[in-house]
Amino acid sequence: MKYLLKNGTVVSGERSEKLDVLIEDEKISRVEKNIEDCTAEIIDVSGKLLFPGFIDAHTHFDLEVANTVTADDFQTGTKAALLGGTTMVIDYASQDKGGHTLKEGLAKWHQKADGKCSCDYSFHMSIVEWNEETEKEIDDMIKEGITSFKLYMTYPAMLVNDRDLYKILKKLNSCGCFAGVHCENAGVIDALIEEAKAEGRFGVENHPLVRPDDMEAEAVHRLLVIAKQAGAPVMVVHLTNQKAYREIMEARARGQEVYAETCPQYLLLDDSAYSLPDFEGAKFVCAPPLRKREDQSCLWNALARDEIQTVATDQCSFTWQQKRLGEKDFTKIPGGLPGVETRGTLLYTYGVREGRITREQMCRLLSENAAKLYGLYPRKGVIAPGSDGDIVVFDPEKRSVISAETHAYHTDNNPFEGFALHGGIDKVFLRGTLAAKDGKVVKENLGTYIYRDKKQI
Ligand code: MN
Repeated sequence: MKYLLKNGTVVSGERSEKLDVLIEDEKISRVEKNIEDCTAEIIDVSGKLLFPGFIDAHTHFDLEVANTVTADDFQTGTKAALLGGTTMVIDYASQDKGGHTLKEGLAKWHQKADGKCSCDYSFHMSIVEWNEETEKEIDDMIKEGITSFKLYMTYPAMLVNDRDLYKILKKLNSCGCFAGVHCENAGVIDALIEEAKAEGRFGVENHPLVRPDDMEAEAVHRLLVIAKQAGAPVMVVHLTNQKAYREIMEARARGQEVYAETCPQYLLLDDSAYSLPDFEGAKFVCAPPLRKREDQSCLWNALARDEIQTVATDQCSFTWQQKRLGEKDFTKIPGGLPGVETRGTLLYTYGVREGRITREQMCRLLSENAAKLYGLYPRKGVIAPGSDGDIVVFDPEKRSVISAETHAYHTDNNPFEGFALHGGIDKVFLRGTLAAKDGKVVKENLGTYIYRDKKQI
């Protein structure tokens, strides 16, 4: 199949230019002015922006959390992602504690995802136990196309101690890989939860109080000092606040290679949501929690200055009924928010349209930088001859309002309910196939597992 996209504006990380795009089978074959090809199906994309397919490098589909499992699995979740212009997700596979291997974790995630995805996919591997066996398995993971890893400084089931953190970072660097790290101080958070419970404070409004910004910044600081000792690059995932941001900037000033990711919820929502009546705040429970308005400004400014490399979602969705598991105890509310469907349109509406970032920056934040960091470039992350035919036809004038009534997630709530969008997804091509148009997935389950190379930054 051949498609010729005519009269659109092709956006890259560097420039926007009026160019035609010819897609042949799975690949982009030409990107030039005035292409003529009478054998191709011509699609007029006048007035539209063409972005390389968005890559969401932080999702959790079909994940067990707090004695329940996310409302969206790979089937429903990747459909929502595709509708949002995301042609590839990198989900978090995980090793289990108690003598389990990375290979077992990987097999488990393949079982969850294979044959069910409507966009391309890969996994990061979470390491929760470090020993000789795990160390040997790093090379096996690389052979399986996994070149990025995840480490947790919080959550008892996932937590690695400082000794292991140091050893893992060092080992990964020696293999040309790196880890994304969830930074929150586990011990103090546990203590603050104990205090809240002892004082009879069980309401949602306590959620941000037991996970304060200082305890995120402390973990970021510790991580970066340990990474310095290990001589290793590292990524801080879901950065939420000013104090943690300053730690990153200080580490960079002393010459360290540090990457940062943030998410739309930290740019657009704030912690006043936890004080909403009728348990409404539960909808916004995630870790780290939503922060203050000053933190949002800090993050937007950091995006504008290219100090944050990616905007991902940390997609992890639950229904109201699931959120209600924590009605009498906020620590039992399954943590997480959906986001894959609206990442691009939110960033366009509240970032590009409001002049906070350029559309080229949007391209870098949603696609190009993730492609380079996660070993996908230039197969993905750019509209160029030879690249996969992953293209978002973006209509800058389309208007809509986010609502749980119309969204594609298998949930009955949306944290961005009522947010107006000015800019929308018109069509999405996945490896040369028109897979979504007019808000509908027209070709399901086309997603394939992508073997990734090492980072190209
Ligand atoms: Mn996460």
